[in-house]
Amino acid sequence: MIIIGGGPVGAEMASAFNSLGVGIDLVDKCGRILNKEDPELVDILSSRMKEAGIRLHTGCKPLAIKREGDGIALDIEDGTNSVTLRAEEVLAATGRRPNIEGLGLENAGVEYTPRGITTDRRLRTSAPNIYACGDVVGPFLFSHMAEYQAIVAVRNAFLPFQKKVDYENAAWCTFTDPELARAGLTEEEARDKYGDRVRVYRRAYGETDRGKTDASDVGMSKFICHRGRLVGAHILGAHAGELIHEAQVAKSLGIPFHRLYEVIHVYPTFSDIVKHPAKLCYIDRLKDNPFLKILRRFL
Ligand SMILES: Cc1cc2nc3c(=O)[nH]c(=O)nc-3n(C[C@H](O)[C@H](O)[C@H](O)COP(=O)(O)OP(=O)(O)OC[C@H]3O[C@@H](n4cnc5c(N)ncnc54)[C@H](O)[C@@H]3O)c2cc1C
Repeated sequence: MIIIGGGPVGAEMASAFNSLGVGIDLVDKCGRILNKEDPELVDILSSRMKEAGIRLHTGCKPLAIKREGDGIALDIEDGTNSVTLRAEEVLAATGRRPNIEGLGLENAGVEYTPRGITTDRRLRTSAPNIYACGDVVGPFLFSHMAEYQAIVAVRNAFLPFQKKVDYENAAWCTFTDPELARAGLTEEEARDKYGDRVRVYRRAYGETDRGKTDASDVGMSKFICHRGRLVGAHILGAHAGELIHEAQVAKSLGIPFHRLYEVIHVYPTFSDIVKHPAKLCYIDRLKDNPFLKILRRFL
């Protein structure tokens, strides 16, 4: 199968079909798949996918597609060379768009753009008694974000106390093999926003005892802190979609990252992927403590 588009859907489908024994050619015009995710972790994932047999054609533009007997041929070029990929099936995963044409929204006074229905932060549309939520509103096209918005929209439609949506703590997971989970900013985004005052803490799965005993040694966690608080958390590896929630709780509730080190974690579990970086943050905090700095010099 040829998959066009290396976003979350294309990458997930590539992993899933590859696991079922389907040969996969994944084509993306960008230099790497999942180009909105943390490049350091995406590079590890890309290597893993290649080892698993997925042929990644990044930086390649599809030029022409045609039927060839029972199959399909797709011409792609990487700027200098062009090649023809052949497969039984093609899956286009180049993005989704709202399905709002022909609904007559303008008759109801509901404003929209090609990106979807326009709402305010209370999810009220330009028609005061019509609310909207989910993919058709965006900006995060996930089931859990649709659920979050639905609760806000219904609450605002029926209750006097109005709630605004807050996307500061959006989180998601791309279910590739292994999974890539994320909450908040990438390192690059954090550096753009906070400058060099951000600190990054990492832990490789291969360094954890559970990673070794389970032979789940592919992947890494990466936590980005500003003034001791998490502004970004990224986990690539086994159970990443579950493990991200410890960071997500700390980030959403404003709990300083180092405090997770004070929490007793069960050994040997993958939770070390969060606990160890929290310990590194704890050590940094000790090193930054002015009283301890003086004491160290004195001693
Ligand atoms: C391949 C794929 C994998 C995904 N994996 C994940 C994942 O792992 N985790 C995650 O969080 N999200 C995932 N998503 C995204 C997730 O599916 C969407 O974010 C979620 O379904 C949005 O819910 P929704 O109710 O807004 O829209 P939808 O689920 O699209 O529901 C809209 C419904 O409205 C109906 N409809 C449309 N027009 C009309 C009409 N005129 N009249 C009546 N009914 C109409 C449609 O038939 C549909 O049933 C995935 C998406 C895709 C495509």
